[in-house]
Parts: sequence; structure tokens; C-alpha cells
Amino acid sequence: MQGLPNFELQRPTHLAEALALLAAEPRARLLAGGTDLVANLRRGLEYPPLLIDLGALPGFSAIDHVANGLRLGAGVTLAQLTRDTAIAHDYPALAEAAASVAGPAHRSVATIGGNLCQDTRCVFYNQSEWWRSANRYCLKRGGDTCHVAPQGKRCHAAFSGDLAPALLALDAEVELVDARGTRRMALAGLYRDDGAAHLQLAPGELLHCVRVPSKAPHSVSAYRKARVRGAMDFPLAGVACSLTLRDGSLANLRVALTGTNTRPIVLGGTEELLGKPVNDTSMLRLGKLVQKQASPMRSTAMSSNYRRLVAAALAQRLVRELAAVAASAPQP
Ligand SMILES: Cc1cc2nc3c(=O)[nH]c(=O)nc-3n(C[C@H](O)[C@H](O)[C@H](O)COP(=O)(O)OP(=O)(O)OC[C@H]3O[C@@H](n4cnc5c(N)ncnc54)[C@H](O)[C@@H]3O)c2cc1C
Ligand code: SF4
Repeated sequence: MQGLPNFELQRPTHLAEALALLAAEPRARLLAGGTDLVANLRRGLEYPPLLIDLGALPGFSAIDHVANGLRLGAGVTLAQLTRDTAIAHDYPALAEAAASVAGPAHRSVATIGGNLCQDTRCVFYNQSEWWRSANRYCLKRGGDTCHVAPQGKRCHAAFSGDLAPALLALDAEVELVDARGTRRMALAGLYRDDGAAHLQLAPGELLHCVRVPSKAPHSVSAYRKARVRGAMDFPLAGVACSLTLRDGSLANLRVALTGTNTRPIVLGGTEELLGKPVNDTSMLRLGKLVQKQASPMRSTAMSSNYRRLVAAALAQRLVRELAAVAASAPQP
């Protein structure tokens, strides 16, 4: 790590002011908790002339339990998420994902917006300037070759945020704002399949809030991650799941993954498991779906195949666990 580069810091107190600053300086970066961005600045990965601190925007860190669900300001901290008893009760996947991020000091400042918009990660990228220069940089920044897939022309750095799979499993939407207005989309629409430019944010746009629909009756959800250090680490693979049972069979199932691809993904093909009981046959099929769609590359210390297998095992265990919970509760 090196010292922070020089930059101007602005702390707007109105959203319009923040958007005007962002529109006026395309190279500006948004600063929320800073736990991802500041480390990247200290690695010399970025040299933005201006940081726009979102911490003083009114209502930016509000949790609102509204009629049709939950509205979370992008500045809500992960610690706030873990403390909210209604979230723990209705959206356990979200509370568990927030609690699994880094350590308590981190979570006291790290925000939902920063977690969803954090940079992708790779062992060849999250390194000091001298390390990367000795390695002739890489395709994502400063070089012309991807050391993970040298024949390819794209970056395979992994998206490793913990909140995204939980919010995807809960069918969340995001609201993006810029100087022209607001657009709302499914969270999955925020991401692109490119580790070097994985966000669909337009220039001048920021993530304003996240909306989670009301908990479906009798639904259960949870999040599990595998990591190198149990105490505090990014996911090698993370899986969130939300499901309901009817007459002992799966009536709804959403599974989402992180840590394996350049973007968080909602597992496709789960509809073929609906109407089936959670047993060895259906879980074998679930494992195959995960193994096919998870595409980890050699971007972490662990082997790609290990991460693929871990993702499948996590998904199978989680669905079994949740099905047992749902079966023990009153049925619809
Ligand atoms: C030691 C360590 C361990 C970590 N462990 C984990 C972990 O286990 N799981 C995990 O998910 N993350 C982990 N992180 C990464 C990071 O701490 C978290 O993702 C955190 O939630 C980021 O939030 P932040 O508010 O600090 O983001 P910031 O660092 O402020 O911002 C991150 C990025 O998002 C952008 N951004 C922030 N807010 C907005 C917004 N409203 N609209 C648009 N863009 C925005 C910023 O410009 C920046 O590019 C770890 C980091 C460290 C240093
Ligand atoms: S996946 Fe390739 S291009 Fe992307 S950060 Fe790693 S080495 Fe660089």
C-alpha cells in the first residue's frame, strides 16, 4: 500500500448538488464508507481528481418499512442492516449476508451502495503498484494481457460482494438517479458480464436506493458463504436462497451466487425443480445447474474447480436446510 494520492473532497448536503458535481467531473468517484475505494486508491489502482462523499445526503441512510416492502437508502450501513429486527425476521438472507461482510468496524461504515458497487477482485489486480508493474500490469488496468486467461480479450475478475446474492434472491430492485431523473430496474440489471466494467451505471448516475418486495407468505431465505478465513474474508463462493414449499414440494425457488462470476447471478433453470420434493434427485440437479452456471476463473488463491464445487455444495445444503425450516412451519 502507498499513501493516498492527492484529490479534492466534496461533501454535498443535497442530492442535486452531488449529481451536479458528478456530471461536471466525469473522473470523480463516489465515496460512501470508503472501505473498498480507499484501499484501491492506496494500491494506486485509481487517481480520481475528485471524491464526492455521499455521507451528508439527507435520507441516504434511512431504512423504511413501507407498505409493499422495504426501502433502503444506498447509504444504509451493513451494521444498520444487522441491527434491524424486522429485517432479521422477514429477510434473514439480507441480515446474514450483511453480518458476513468483513469485521464489525468495517460494517459500521460500509454501505449497501458501496457493497453493491464495489470493484471486482483478482489476485493479479488487488496488488500494490510495484507488484503490478513488475507483472506488466494486466488487461483490466494498464496492460494488454489478462494473466488469468491470456488468450482472451476480457477481464474475468470476480464480483465478490455478499449483499447482491441476498438481494437477488429476494427479488430486489434498485433506483438509479442522475441529473435527468430516476430509473428503476431489477438488481440483476445493474451488472454486466465484464470484470473490468461490471456496472451498468451511466456516466453521472448513482445508486440511490434499494427496494425489496414484501416477504411472500411462508417464504424462507438465507445466505451462506465459503471463505479462506472464517473470521473475516470475501466469499470464495456465496449462495443466497429464498423458497416456499407447497404440499412438501418446492413452490418457489430463487438461488443467487456471488464470488464465482464477474457479476452476481440468479441461477437459471430452477423452475424445473418446482413441484418436486427436496431430495437427492432434485438436489443433484440443483448441483448440476450451479456447476454449469458458476464460472470461476483463476482469479483467487483457490482453484476454480474447488470454487465451483463449493458453490454447488453450498446451494444444495442451503436448500435442504431451508426446506426443513419451511416444512416445520405452518403450510399455506
Ligand atoms: C479487509 C476487507 C475485507 C472485506 N471483506 C468483504 C466481505 O467479506 N464481503 C464483501 O462484500 N465486501 C468486503 N469488503 C469490501 C468492502 O468493505 C465492502 O464491499 C463494503 O460494503 C463497501 O462499502 P463502502 O460503503 O465502504 O464502499 P466504498 O468503498 O465507499 O465504495 C465502493 C465503490 O462503490 C462506489 N459507490 C459507493 N456508493 C455508491 C452509490 N451510492 N452509487 C454508486 N456507486 C457507489 C464507490 O464509488 C466505489 O467505487 C472488504 C474490504 C476489506 C478492505
Ligand atoms: S482477470 Fe485478467 S484482466 Fe481481470 S484483473 Fe485478473 S488478470 Fe487482470
